[in-house]
Amino acid sequence: EYLLRDADTAMYRAKALGRARYHIFDPAMYQEAIQLLEMENDLRRAIERQEFLIYYQPIISLTTGMIAGFEALVRWQHPVRGLIDPIDFIPIAEETGLINDINIWVLQSACQQLRTWQNHPTIPKNLTISINLTARLLSHPNLISQVDQIIYETNIKSASLQLEITESVIMENTEAVKRMLQQMKEREIKLVIDDFGTGYSSLSYLHRFSLHALKIDKSFVKRMQDNQEDMGLVPAMISIAKSMSMSVIAEGVETKEQLEELKSLNCEFAQGYLFSKPLEQELVVDLLASNPRW
Ligand code: C2E
Ligand code: CA
Ligand code: CA
Ligand code: CA
Repeated sequence: EYLLRDADTAMYRAKALGRARYHIFDPAMYQEAIQLLEMENDLRRAIERQEFLIYYQPIISLTTGMIAGFEALVRWQHPVRGLIDPIDFIPIAEETGLINDINIWVLQSACQQLRTWQNHPTIPKNLTISINLTARLLSHPNLISQVDQIIYETNIKSASLQLEITESVIMENTEAVKRMLQQMKEREIKLVIDDFGTGYSSLSYLHRFSLHALKIDKSFVKRMQDNQEDMGLVPAMISIAKSMSMSVIAEGVETKEQLEELKSLNCEFAQGYLFSKPLEQELVVDLLASNPRW
């Protein structure tokens, strides 16, 4: 029951949409299939026209109270439908394979953004940038050369790049993925397990990869106080991370109580609406200029 998660919903939806496509004799499904095709065409155009935007959400160091870095979260600025959230287009992008191009665009643009921030006289030089990587891209043989090129062109330190991947990617453990993770490690790029606790990973198995951090899914943070039974889960996850010499990031922190609890558990990083929603790039500069401390 802990296991209802973004990633699953996305997969489920992608599969449902995929099925709809092969049953177009049903008029309702036919409509759906047409809409899906339209969406797919729209997405292709969106890639050509670069209709995507990145919002940035700060990640706070709970030891210093300061912003340690930002997670890049993609949105689609649709010419007619307005701003579209990832949940409403990533499943289709996954299903059609268009996700790879979108994801590379995000990687490149977010690294460029980090470079721009680093050139800014009053912005700290050691900010990190976190990118969500789809499983599909991680087994793509060209990913590493793309990453190298982006790091070369933007001239950011590879150690300031954090890639968020899901447990399932690790558990599938294909040779291609293993090699990719090794190549990332050689470059000191940091690997973070996203949505930790929502997948079915074996801990001994996770331990075999050199992962930098676990990101505790927001569903666990949410239930930290209001449900007796789940109370112990966040502390358990934090001690798991520590026992594997990994760092911990708590996602979806919305209340002061949650923050205090996480601090008392020695959680190192936190992210959530309590600190800031994901922001447009201009607002990030304002936020950094105000030099917030939590
Ligand atoms: P995620 O990686 O788990 O990202 C966290 C989501 O939680 C984001 O939703 C963020 O806006 C939201 N969030 C942040 N703080 C809070 C909070 O305090 N409370 C609550 N309730 N929510 C909070 P968003 O931006 O809609 O992204 C949804 C998902 O889409 C992401 O989940 C990620 O899996 C995917 N995604 C976003 N950008 C990309 C991308 O560039 N590439 C890929 N492959 N996936 C992406
Ligand atoms: Ca993430
Ligand atoms: Ca999550
Ligand atoms: Ca996710």
